[in-house]
This record gives sequence, structure tokens and C-alpha cells, in this order.
Amino acid sequence: MQKYVYYFGDGHAEGNAGMKNVLGGKGAGLAEMTNIGVPVPPGFTISTDVCTYFYAHDKNYPPELKDAVAENLARVEQSVGKKFGDPDKPLLVSVRSGARASMPGMMDTILNLGLNDETIQGLAKHDERFALDSYRRFIQMYSDVVLEVDKEHFEHELFALRDRAGVKTDAEIPAEALRELVATYKGIVREKSGKDFPQDVQQQLWGAIGAVFNSWNNQRAITYRKLNGIPDDWGTAVNVQSMVFGNMGNDCATGVAFTRNPSTGEKRFFGEYLANAQGEDVVAGIRTPLPISKAQAIENQKSLEETMPEVYAQLEDVYKKLEAHYRDMQDIEFTIEHLKLYLLQTRTGKRTGFAAVKIACDMVDEGLINHTEAVSRVEAGQIVQLLAPVFDIDEKQKALKGGRLLGRGLPAGPGAAAGRIAFNAERAVAMAKDDPVVLVRIETSPEDIAGMHSAAGILTTRGGLTSHAAVVARGMGRPCVVGAGSVRVDYGRAEMRSEGHEPLEEGDWVSIDGTTGEILSGKLPTKPSEIIQVLLEKTMKPEDSEVYRNFDRLLKWADEIRTLGVRTNADTPQDARVARLFGAHGIGLCRTEHMFFQEERILRVREMILARNEAGRRKALDEILPYQKADFEGIFRELDGMPVTIRLLDPPLHEFLPQTEGQMSTVAREMGWGFVELRAKVNQLHESNPMLGHRGCRLAVTYPEIYEMQVRAIFQAACAVKKDGIDARPEVMIPLVGTVKELTMLSEMVRRVAAETLKEQETELPIIVGTMIEIPRAALIADKLGEVAEFFSFGTNDLTQMTFGYSRDDAGSFLPEYVDKKILPKDPFESIDQEGVGQLVRLGTQRGRGANGSLKVGVCGEHGGDPDSIRFFRTCDLNYVSCSPYRVPVARLAAAQAELEFKHFEG
Ligand code: ADP
Ligand code: MG
Ligand code: MG
Repeated sequence: MQKYVYYFGDGHAEGNAGMKNVLGGKGAGLAEMTNIGVPVPPGFTISTDVCTYFYAHDKNYPPELKDAVAENLARVEQSVGKKFGDPDKPLLVSVRSGARASMPGMMDTILNLGLNDETIQGLAKHDERFALDSYRRFIQMYSDVVLEVDKEHFEHELFALRDRAGVKTDAEIPAEALRELVATYKGIVREKSGKDFPQDVQQQLWGAIGAVFNSWNNQRAITYRKLNGIPDDWGTAVNVQSMVFGNMGNDCATGVAFTRNPSTGEKRFFGEYLANAQGEDVVAGIRTPLPISKAQAIENQKSLEETMPEVYAQLEDVYKKLEAHYRDMQDIEFTIEHLKLYLLQTRTGKRTGFAAVKIACDMVDEGLINHTEAVSRVEAGQIVQLLAPVFDIDEKQKALKGGRLLGRGLPAGPGAAAGRIAFNAERAVAMAKDDPVVLVRIETSPEDIAGMHSAAGILTTRGGLTSHAAVVARGMGRPCVVGAGSVRVDYGRAEMRSEGHEPLEEGDWVSIDGTTGEILSGKLPTKPSEIIQVLLEKTMKPEDSEVYRNFDRLLKWADEIRTLGVRTNADTPQDARVARLFGAHGIGLCRTEHMFFQEERILRVREMILARNEAGRRKALDEILPYQKADFEGIFRELDGMPVTIRLLDPPLHEFLPQTEGQMSTVAREMGWGFVELRAKVNQLHESNPMLGHRGCRLAVTYPEIYEMQVRAIFQAACAVKKDGIDARPEVMIPLVGTVKELTMLSEMVRRVAAETLKEQETELPIIVGTMIEIPRAALIADKLGEVAEFFSFGTNDLTQMTFGYSRDDAGSFLPEYVDKKILPKDPFESIDQEGVGQLVRLGTQRGRGANGSLKVGVCGEHGGDPDSIRFFRTCDLNYVSCSPYRVPVARLAAAQAELEFKHFEG
């Protein structure tokens, strides 16, 4: 007979951490904690198989489930010495959903189930107020979740009651008033659902279990699964667990904690608690919770370590045990009932990029994990957070002395942000189009996501380090300060006040330091991150920056794992230098047109374009050559010994010409042309669809002398630096090829000119010529192109543009809607469309290699720096990816992770 229910309690569980598929994340954690001797209230988990069965059988349960639940409930009763539905010693339980992956769209937990008009007597024997408080919470939660009576109706009554009683918190409402409230609540249920609140505890239990399974297919959950790629057939588990009470007086509490600081990674226990409170009160942000440790407390906050030292010591033992056992930072939930500690949840804690890197490195040093595990522990995209600017210390000191400190909150997301104040998400989105914005809220909720995303920083006046704002900001890598109680926000007046300061209004500048929690008025200047200071500016020594040292170690471990090369897209010696310092081992794309735009050169370029004949064009090109040569020399010097892929001129020529009549008359004067004549020439070069027009290798078919000059400049430069002992390795790349003939014709020309140049210079260098694959046709005929080219580089920006037929410059007007409506899973210009464009990459690579076994293949679009795309490129067996200099660290890490996954998948 199939096992559907798994018991945990009294130091032994039928499940364990490895059974997430069956027990869900929460259930597996409860089982594992029980097994390793952590105090957990006993209970049982109804497996995900029941959920699967439920949907396969028209929402019926397996016939043996009823008995299994009854048996396990009896075990729980036995264990705690109470009985479910017993008026004298009632057992109360929580009913908690729990899928394999955490799913915020699912059913809310129901606490205190098993209370009714009789069982409340049993509770009331000890403490009447507590019993009534639990009952009113239960009626509200159960009605909201199971009976679909909106919780607003109940909250409305609760708030009204608080006003009448003249108290601020629920904990101060007297028992008498609570009794009335319970009666009112029952009335609401009767009115809204047409039935009495269920008094039968079995009916309550099965109602709750059914609600969990039904919630697997509510709209929120379906949407969440789609967005996060969670399969619909996984199903959820249900946990039924005996209640422990954090709301039975001042020797009771509830809290959440991280085994290390989730914001900085510091190895210190870190968390928050509320005395005399139940479960969700901590996350709800109704009262700002207190710190658990003395070290964490500011001003005169009473930490748990001070108020309940014995329990705190127990909690310390437990967190150490859990961390050593899971070998990763844990996020835990606990409740204290009359000074006795219980753990209610443990899971891998979410963390910032800073924390992820530090924790991974520290755990290697502590011998908990190896290098490979460390590399897989840091989300590749998160590492850019470490490169973000910080406030200049001197400037901040000056501002502090100048009385600009508005207050302090909790440092919830590290980094510095200065921006204009917006008091709601909508305004933040609108204002962020012009200036950086700091979103200032009392607290945030899921409706604010878009505003949080567009903000440079987030500030809230309520809530703790596990509040919505803190969790979301950390996920997005936004600097964030929460719970800044000394700052008051008035939405009505759209202003923010703090004592001794002028109120700030929407649009005023404010600066927040998410690493320290400081809030300052005005716009504070930032300075580069420590990593930039060490690597690029050399204003800091590696030994003075732990952030840098960990960054460097982790990326070196990644380099040992990865097989995919990482190059950079760089057009200037400066960019090339930055990328090399970040660990790029070559240039995958050097665009030559940027060199044409600089001051003195543009005039010569225009002369070249406007020349009436070839002789005139060659004369102008001769004058451009020394500039190009000098640029290439600079780049070769920076990349001594590394490949430099240089793309010959790509954009349509009209891009170099003046566009407005005003500019035209200036240029006409400079060049000694008549205005009318110039305007006519500009109009003649105008194209309706320039991106599909006379550009790329098509230019060289018409004007071969342009590419000839560029090739000469490249090889003259290579020879020149070689005389200084520099090992220049140019690779010449022909853009926008769509036919074999284009490539054969132009690569012959490149080889001829390169050979001539080398001969003139009396130097020997390999001549390497390849092509970009950015027109779908080129990918399809890659077998033929592979016979001619020595390398391919997929220009995935143009390839995406042409495969979809979306203009990259105009797609912004409809792509967001495409993503919203799930026509596309993601913006294909950000992350490669594996299904379509990706197929061309895979096929082009296979066909090209079929013709030329030693063909080198890379990618040089934006996708070269996107972790998901990199994972895909590894499966296509590319040689390298090339990305912008600041994405190089991301690509190194992502390439290593891609390797680990690929190896794993290949077995
Ligand atoms: P979520 O997934 O939203 O965190 P949980 O099921 O973990 O939902 O529960 C919500 C809150 O209720 C948490 O604070 C949790 O610790 C608390 N809680 C759940 N079960 C119990 C229980 N048996 N006794 C006391 N508190 C509980
Ligand atoms: Mg929880
Ligand atoms: Mg292109």
C-alpha cells in the first residue's frame, strides 16, 4: 500500500531532507530537524502524491487517506498529551502548505485549528484572554482561506475595536472586548458565507487540507509557477502540526533568524523577534520586531539575548547545529512557549551578492564546503552587486557633521543610493525615466514591485530585515534601508519628516546607505566599489579589502572549472584594460566604427563618404589610417598575447553624416561644400530601413578600399607593437555575411592586403579571417561558410532581430506587453531565445564544424553576459562568449556553473 502520510515527532521522523519531492520543502525540513534532535512540535506531512491523486481523481482523496490521517493525529495527541476536539485539553494544530520550491502564490497557513465554542473552555482555564485572542485569529484565518470570506471584514471590526478601546496594539485589547469580537466575527461568517462557522473539528481539518490542495491551482499559484518554471504536476504537500504558542504572555515569543547576516554575509547569528506574539505578526510589519542578539541591538532595544538568556543560548546551539548539518546559511522560524524553544521551519536563506560571496568563501575556509560547491552557491548575476558604487566616506562624514542625517534604519540591502524621493510605485516608475529615484514607503507590498525595480534605492519606515521590502530589495540587489522609525511618511501630503529637519517632498534628493542604515538629505556623491578601487584605480590594496579578496578567489575557482572561454567586447584600450583586469582572455568584438566618430576623424570620414570618386575616397582613407593604426596599437598593447577579434566597418554610412540642417550647414562650411549640395548627398544616402540596408560587408562590396585601409591599419599596428616585443594576435572579422560569395571575395581581399602589409613590414604573423553569423541565412549555409572562415562569431543581437523580424530599436513599444501576456517568456534581446534563435546557433555551429573541424566559435551579442544564455551556449559547445567589460566576472562564474550543470547532465 502506498504511503501517503509521514509522521515527525519525539526525535524521530519518517521522512528526511532528501525527500523534498514527496514532503515539500517545509515538510522535509521539519522531518530533518526532528531527526537531528532539534525541538520541533510533532506533526505529520500529507505527501505531494495526494495532491497528484486529488487532481487525477476529480478532487477525491485516496481511500486509505482518512485512516492514515486519523492514525497520525492520534500519534500527535499521544505525544503532546492533548486531544483534538477535547473540551478539557484540546489539541490545536496548524495547517501549512509546502511545495518543493517555496511558492508565495499558495495558501496561507492556518493557525489554532481545532478551536470551537467548547474547546476554547480548555484553553481559557489557563488564560482566558489568550484563548479568545487565539480564537479570533483562527476564525479570521480560516474564514479568509477556506470559506473565502475576505479578511478585510474582520480587520475592519478589529481596528474599530482598537479605536473604541483606545489601544494601539492587539495585545492590549482586554478579554471582555475580545469576547464580543469573537461573536461579531461569527456573525460576519454567517452573513457572508450563509453558514455558521464550523464547530466540528474534523470538518475544520479536512476543510483546511482541501483548501491547501485547491490552492495549488489558484490563479496566483499558476502564474507564479509559469514565471518560475515550476512544473504543474509537482503538487504541494500539507503539514499538520501541533501548535505551540508565542502569545501566552511575556515569557513567550516568536521570531525569525538567519544563521549568518543575509545582507553582508558576516558570520554572526542574526534575527528578530516579538514577545507575546504569534507566527505571522513578525513578517506582517505591524510592530517593528526587536533584534535577537545584544550585538545587533541599537540604542536601548531589548534583545532576546537580554530578555531570555537561557532560551537564547538554546537557540544558539540549534542554529549552529543546523548550519553544520546543512552546510549552508539557514533561514529559520522559531517560537518560544513559556521559555521553551521550538523550531518551526528551516530553509536555505536568500542573500545578497555580497553575502553570497562572503559566505561561500568563509565556508570554504571553515572546511564546510569545497571550491566547486562555493562556485555553485553564488548566483552569477548577483556578482555585479559587488561592483556597484558606495558613498565616499569623506563626503559622508562631512554630510553627517553638517547635520544632514535624517535618521537611521536597518541596513537591509547593501550599497549606496542617492535619488529623488517618490512616495508610491507609480511615481517612482515615471520619475525614474529622468533621474535616479529613492522609493520611500511606510512599508511595501507586492503591488510595489515595479516601483521597487525602477528605484535606485528603497526606504521604509516600518518593518524588519525580513519585511517584504527587505526581502525583495535583497533579491533585486537594490540598496535598501527599512524600519527607519524616526522618519515619518505622510502619503496624503506627499512628504517625509524627521525631527529637526525641514520636511522633504516628492522630487527632493535623499541618500540612503544600505550597508549602514543611514539616511541623509541631499545628493551624496558616490565612489567606486572596493573591487574597482583595487583592480582599476589602484587606490586600495588587496590586503585592505576583504570584498576584493573573496571576489578574486571565487572567480579563480570558477576559472578552474569552466571550459567556455570569456572574452570581452571592447573598442578602446581603456575598455580592453578594464576587461583584462576583470579576467577576460581576449577581445571577441572590437567595433571599428567608434574609432571613426572621434573629433578630428569624423571630418576625414565625411570626406571619404562624400568623395566624388574612388581617388577622392582613397585620399581621405589614407588620412584616417594613422588614427586607426594608433587605436589598434593601443588595444594590442593592452592584450599582449591574447586574441583580438576586429570587426571591419559595419554601420550604414549615413550614420556618420550630419542629420539636422543646422549641423549640415556647419559641416558644409568646414568641408568647403555648398549647403544644398551636401543636403542632396545626405538625402541620397538616406535609407528607409538602414539596419537592413547598405551596411556590413555590403559596404565593402561597393567600396573595397574602406576594408583595405582597415586591414592595412590592423597589420601595420600589429607589426609596430611586435617591434616592442608585444605579441599581437589580430583576427579579422567580416560582418553581416549572408552569402558564401561575399565571404570568399572579401576574405581573399583581406588575406591579400594583410600579406602585402606584412611583406612591407618584413614581419611574419598568422592571418586569421572569420565571419559574423548574424543573418539567419548565414547560419543555414554555415557548412559552406565554414570552408572559408577560420572562426564564427554569432552576433546574437542582429540574429535575434532578423530571426524574429523585430527591430531592436522599436521593439520596446511592444515587447514588454509580449512578456506580460506570456507570448514570450523573456525579452529575447536580453536572454537568448533558445527555441528559435538558439536553434540557429546550434545548427550553425554543427554545420560549420562539419566543414572545418578546427573552426573556433564564439558569441558576441549582449547574450554573452547573460547567465541563462551562457548555460545554453555551453550546451552548443561554443569556444567562448564575449561580453561588455563589467559583465566579464558574471560570465566567468556563469560559465563555471554551466560546466557543472552540463557535466552533471551528461553524467
Ligand atoms: P509561510 O510559508 O508563509 O512562512 P508557515 O507555514 O511557515 O507559512 O507559517 C506561518 C507562521 O506561522 C510562521 O511564523 C510559523 O512559524 C507559524 N507557525 C506555523 N505552524 C505553527 C505551529 N504549529 N505553532 C506555532 N506557530 C506556527
Ligand atoms: Mg514559514
Ligand atoms: Mg551586427
